[in-house]
Amino acid sequence: MHIPYTFAAALISSCILIAQNPGYTDTPMLPGGKWHVHDSARPAPLVVTPAAESAPMAAPADAIVLFAGKDAAAFTCNNEPAKWLLAQDYMEVNGTGSVRTRREFGDCQLHIEWMAPVVVTGDSQGRGNSGVFFFGRYEVQVLDSYDNKTYADGQAAAIYGQTPPMVNACRKPGEWQTYDIVFVAPRFSADGKLVSKARVTVIHNGILVHHDQELAGATSHRALPGYQPHGGKGPIELQDHGNPVRYRNIWLRELNLTPTNDVAQPAVK
Ligand code: MG
Repeated sequence: MHIPYTFAAALISSCILIAQNPGYTDTPMLPGGKWHVHDSARPAPLVVTPAAESAPMAAPADAIVLFAGKDAAAFTCNNEPAKWLLAQDYMEVNGTGSVRTRREFGDCQLHIEWMAPVVVTGDSQGRGNSGVFFFGRYEVQVLDSYDNKTYADGQAAAIYGQTPPMVNACRKPGEWQTYDIVFVAPRFSADGKLVSKARVTVIHNGILVHHDQELAGATSHRALPGYQPHGGKGPIELQDHGNPVRYRNIWLRELNLTPTNDVAQPAVK
């Protein structure tokens, strides 16, 4: 059968599109000049199967318990009580908006447990998407990255839009997963100049996925991250991205760390 050239070309290009990873190549280059923001060509982290899920890890004596299952009083949504679904020992995203802690924190160690929806719907960024935002602006991504292709800097435990995790340590949807995160807040001078960038260490399901990783700035979508000066403390926000992700057993230890990149940095636009 004779196939017109234009039809054949369209067919071939659509097949290429289908084969391509989700993501972008028309976005700005990240610092380092190797990858675009959400680069579809950036290699996906290797999968490492973690240990089986376990019972919630009890908070240590000096922790501030943010959520233990009985109520979500530590969280607000647009300055009103959080309205996420409360059931048994968890709360579930339900489309009422992102929630943030009433209290504000600087450097900290955060333990948080989450579950991607048992019923799998959507793909890429539309599947089990939520997120943990320090200062309401620096996101450690929550996503169902179990057998779910997306761009590397957007998968579970990525510093969204910047740095993929070292490995993909996701459990299956419907299983509880843990993040243990040490967040070192950025420092700004009295006149608002960036003195030291934020840094983060993340352990996902017992597996190290970021070690003292520098953040290029606040989280953006399809744009370069950047720093805007802010105070020494800020809320922790959990994202409502429209998927019914669950959270349980959230606690935090306040820290006062010395930033490790203590060489003065120029202000970042
Ligand atoms: Mg997210």
